Amino acid sequence: MKLFTVGPVSMYPEVRRVHLDQMVYFRTDEFSALVKENIAKLAALLDTDYLPGIIYLTASGTAAMEAVITNCLKKNDYALVVNGGTFGHRFCELLQYHRIGYDSIDLKWDESLTEEHLLQKDGRKYSVFLVNLHETSTGQLYNIDLIKNYCQKNDILLVVDAISTFLADDFSMKGNGIDATIISSQKGLCLNAGLSFVAMSERMTARCLSIETHGDCYFRFADYLKNIERGQTPYTPAVSIMYELRAMLALIESKGGKQAWLNEIKEKGDYFREKALRRGLGIPSYPLSRMLTPIVFEDVDAGKMFIELKDKYGIYVNPCSGEIGKKMFRVSHIGSTSHEDFDNLLDKIERAINTLRN
Ligand SMILES: *Cc1c(COP(=O)(O)O)cnc(C)c1O
Repeated sequence: MKLFTVGPVSMYPEVRRVHLDQMVYFRTDEFSALVKENIAKLAALLDTDYLPGIIYLTASGTAAMEAVITNCLKKNDYALVVNGGTFGHRFCELLQYHRIGYDSIDLKWDESLTEEHLLQKDGRKYSVFLVNLHETSTGQLYNIDLIKNYCQKNDILLVVDAISTFLADDFSMKGNGIDATIISSQKGLCLNAGLSFVAMSERMTARCLSIETHGDCYFRFADYLKNIERGQTPYTPAVSIMYELRAMLALIESKGGKQAWLNEIKEKGDYFREKALRRGLGIPSYPLSRMLTPIVFEDVDAGKMFIELKDKYGIYVNPCSGEIGKKMFRVSHIGSTSHEDFDNLLDKIERAINTLRN
């Protein structure tokens, strides 16, 4: 079985191995030290200096998106959301659910976010900007410079769901004035699902401590911020994923650090894209994240292709949902995959196309 999905991914053997050992009880100095060490290394990868603003939740990424809304946003905030697919739509739904006013930039699936879209929105109306920097459902990577400039010019807080861009594309919290970054264990970090991190700027941390949360009690950030000072969480965390994280961070270091890691993923993606184009496969023209490549099909059903690849060859690509599900699927470049795996995938895609055409 081979996974070309964005998360969970084909995991690295160095990470899987941690499950062979007994892990320590978590209310101990040993576990606190592990957490603190991991968070310090994550801070360097996220490029933020404000370590006291980094907390983690035992939950998938959507819970972290929701928790940021309930902990960092006020009832009278007015948010602007880039709604370019499943995950942008999810931000809209969460805001609606929590009765926070918002406006959205609605993009068609293959429409690029441009400066025009932003200029059409009167920046003075908004207090918070929410964006899934890589809209995973289409593969589009938004231009962070455009977003940064818009937010800085209009003094808007910037919340970035970086779940599917972190550790695939270049990313800097500090360099882009980001006030809250959300990441999750099963995507760029290539771990099992279950942990999500929220890294807040100093001003966002202060804001969050100054407002009464309007969400539930379990994800009250004030409690997480207090506990993390000593490397702890209010409730039992997914201990095993903290161990996986240590192994993963060590692996990235051993490969030469962040830039070398990003280069390797880019190189895998370039290899795949070039060969895919040479075989006549279609790749959309909007700006893409390095994490994945969407493949567009003209005359076969991409949803059926997904099933064919899975059932016949044990290969898992990422299907798309909704209106684009029949047109497109996505191939991830993160995780433990090699050039040989991509060659094999391309062979099987060609065979599956032939099977479905007949
Ligand atoms: C995967 C992902 C999430 C989180 O989804 P979960 O199913 O809750 O883990 C959120 N945002 C983006 C952009 C994602 O790619």
